[in-house]
Amino acid sequence: MEIIHVSAECYPVAKAGGLGDVVGALPKYCNEAGAIAKVVMPMYRTKYLYAHEWDVVHKGYTHMGDWWFPYTVIREKTNELGFDLYLVDIYGLLDREKVYGYDDDTERFTAFQIAVVDWISLWKHRPDVVHVHDHQAALIPFMFKYCHAYRHLQDIPTVLTIHNGQYQGWMGWDKYTYIPAYDSWKAGMLEWRGTINPLASGIKCAWKVTTVSRTYLDELRQHANGLEALLEYERGKCVGILNGIDPSVWDPATDHYFSEHFNVETVREGKAKNKAHLCERFQLDASKPLITFIGRLVGEKGADLLPQSIEDSFYYIGRKMNFLILGSGFPEIEWRLNALKTMARGDYNVFIGYDETLSHLMYAGADFILMPSRVEPCGLNQMYAMRYGTVPVVRNTGGLRDTVIDYGDRHGYGIRFEQATVGDMTHGIFRSVELYQQQEKLQELRRRMMQLDFSWQSCVRYYLDLYEGLALE
Ligand code: ADP
Repeated sequence: MEIIHVSAECYPVAKAGGLGDVVGALPKYCNEAGAIAKVVMPMYRTKYLYAHEWDVVHKGYTHMGDWWFPYTVIREKTNELGFDLYLVDIYGLLDREKVYGYDDDTERFTAFQIAVVDWISLWKHRPDVVHVHDHQAALIPFMFKYCHAYRHLQDIPTVLTIHNGQYQGWMGWDKYTYIPAYDSWKAGMLEWRGTINPLASGIKCAWKVTTVSRTYLDELRQHANGLEALLEYERGKCVGILNGIDPSVWDPATDHYFSEHFNVETVREGKAKNKAHLCERFQLDASKPLITFIGRLVGEKGADLLPQSIEDSFYYIGRKMNFLILGSGFPEIEWRLNALKTMARGDYNVFIGYDETLSHLMYAGADFILMPSRVEPCGLNQMYAMRYGTVPVVRNTGGLRDTVIDYGDRHGYGIRFEQATVGDMTHGIFRSVELYQQQEKLQELRRRMMQLDFSWQSCVRYYLDLYEGLALE
């Protein structure tokens, strides 16, 4: 069974969030289970590109509207990631350092998808499934089904995974010529509420749609940034499959981003050493509980609640805890988090930016991780945190609800709060401080969390069943 993943991100080549982690791991574990999974992504100019050797496998020439462009497909020589990795280069569009955030992202990802489809259309064989991820690859099912030039691909089953339904890749109808020629009465398969909506098109045209947790699928029918009715209508082909984590990258006993390794038996000492490193680097007090946040500083993640909740915690609970924040996003949130430094020096610090190494050290050295998300499709941070013995303090939503049980409940291990409000989050912080004072209880919870199995090995079979079902259709 040959599965082609098409994605804008794949760890460690290029990652901006959870999508990268998933696409870097799912194919590897599918292959371990006997499938042949491959990844196709844009050829950004990242460190990974320059540090590896590549074979050119295809040089093509195609067009987006009346703009003709050459593209090149290269493959990593050694297969070191555990799957074939293909990068697509389009001069002038994809040859950039960052994954997203350019004014011409619409053109970049549309041209990328056209090049991928064009390349697959020239293969002598057909893959069994093409699995596309998020809106940056979601026009592919439409192209397979309805674009004249690719009609011969219409029998290839497609799967769309929604990692984040908030971003849909909207583009105006003035750009309809970007999409390779199709019968105009099929335009409805591209459209949602007056614009071309790639994610909506993917939901309409893919054979199956998956979301990254079951609760998120239920929630999308209520709040999906305008796509609620469509998801309700297409519910028959939607399924929620919880993401896994990659234990070859995320294991406190072997993690190559820090040196003080630990396991279930040595968690107390191991975490204390990593915490000491962190506290020294960020001028914090290692005797107090260390409460962290890692992620995009956006409303979706509830990051706007952090400054007020931290201030309130110091005011109402006292200077009994330390906070360390890692992330970047909205300038106003960044500014407010930076401004807090002067008020709470010694008990608070923030690192604005993206730093993979620091994130691993924080999972290892922190006592608690805050996730006050308004929307959380799956959430990987809480799973990484638990594997590293760090107690997640999460809002009861999406994948957080599916993975974290409050320690007050039977077999519980985390801290859950109901609303994405300053009050509820501050109460979560209060409970963290309380738990930290009961060291034996905390150690027991750490050991319990570390033994939970959130690995891909245990959830990859849900995807394989899905692919096999499609191949038989
Ligand atoms: P998202 O919605 O952002 O994809 P996920 O929880 O699915 O959220 O995945 C977040 C991933 O990105 C985790 O691996 C997390 O450690 C990482 N991450 C997020 N922000 C940063 C940052 N500023 N520096 C390092 N890693 C980060």
